[in-house]
Amino acid sequence: MTLNENLEKLSNANGVTGNEEEVRKLMIKLMKPYVDEITVDKLENLIAIKKGKKTAPKVMLAAHMDEIGLMVKNITKEGFIKFTKMGGIDDRILQAQKVIIFTKNGPLPGIVGSKPPHIQKEEERKKIITYDELFIDIGAENQEDAAKMGTAIGDPISFDVKYTQVNHDRVMGKAFDDRAGCAVMVEALKKLEKTETDCTVCAVGTVQEEVGLRGAATAAFGIDPDVGIALDVTIAGDVPGVREFDTTVKMGKGPALTVSDSGLITHPKVLRLLMDTAKEQKIPFQLETGLLGSTDAARISLTRQGVPSGTVSIGTRYIHSPVSMASLKDLENSAKLTAAAIQKIQKIF
Ligand SMILES: [Zn+2]
Repeated sequence: MTLNENLEKLSNANGVTGNEEEVRKLMIKLMKPYVDEITVDKLENLIAIKKGKKTAPKVMLAAHMDEIGLMVKNITKEGFIKFTKMGGIDDRILQAQKVIIFTKNGPLPGIVGSKPPHIQKEEERKKIITYDELFIDIGAENQEDAAKMGTAIGDPISFDVKYTQVNHDRVMGKAFDDRAGCAVMVEALKKLEKTETDCTVCAVGTVQEEVGLRGAATAAFGIDPDVGIALDVTIAGDVPGVREFDTTVKMGKGPALTVSDSGLITHPKVLRLLMDTAKEQKIPFQLETGLLGSTDAARISLTRQGVPSGTVSIGTRYIHSPVSMASLKDLENSAKLTAAAIQKIQKIF
């Protein structure tokens, strides 16, 4: 299967943080042909291992399987769903979104509703409507009817968006944060399949990244790697209204290598490895620093006595919204860079 096909499958799959099962099943299918062993740890991180020489270093790749979403908080007497947010979501993007509630009876479509603007007072129209004022309409007659439809407190809710090819190599879809990283991880394993690597590669689909890099903590402790590389997305600032000071990362201009973010200062040896590999392989890359937010690499780096770690990111537009845009060329180059860096690791660590 091509990278495009894999990303389509991964983007259309649903795995709101803490409920990653569908994505995990898909990732097992996609990674199985390229690894020697697959395990799932107690927090339900997926760990796919390509075995190398015992004396060579162990590399942990991490791409998080979870996505931002919502969760049923309560059901009103009238049968409307009140919800809470799972992960960082801007309240302004929620109104009128189509969503899917995952109930015990199966998926249920709904729409995020609010008080219509026609009947809002002048001052109401000016202010941001926060998520606690919004609700989801599933077409239920009342609370009892909603319960009969299967909804219950705690049900995960995801945005209802289908993957689309836009123009050239540009694609649009849900949850590119971080299914793009998941697709890159599969592609990197595919590239490594035909080559002998001395080091052992542990490719990890992590859980609960969006609520505080939680899965990466237990996975890294269990694996005890010598080097960690997170595969994730970052903000592409090449849209109107973004200053160059805020970010210089652009979509389609190659993998973004983090120098520092709010949780990680990339280990100099890892940054050097990634930059040197990119230059040797003639892969374009961008450096990024000073961003708020972080990736699984931050958690991996603080495991046990410390793990030299870095991040390979895909510059993606509109992350943490229901639909994002990315360039397949960036994904392909990120996979190429990751695979080539892995082949060089034993010379450096
Ligand atoms: Zn992410």
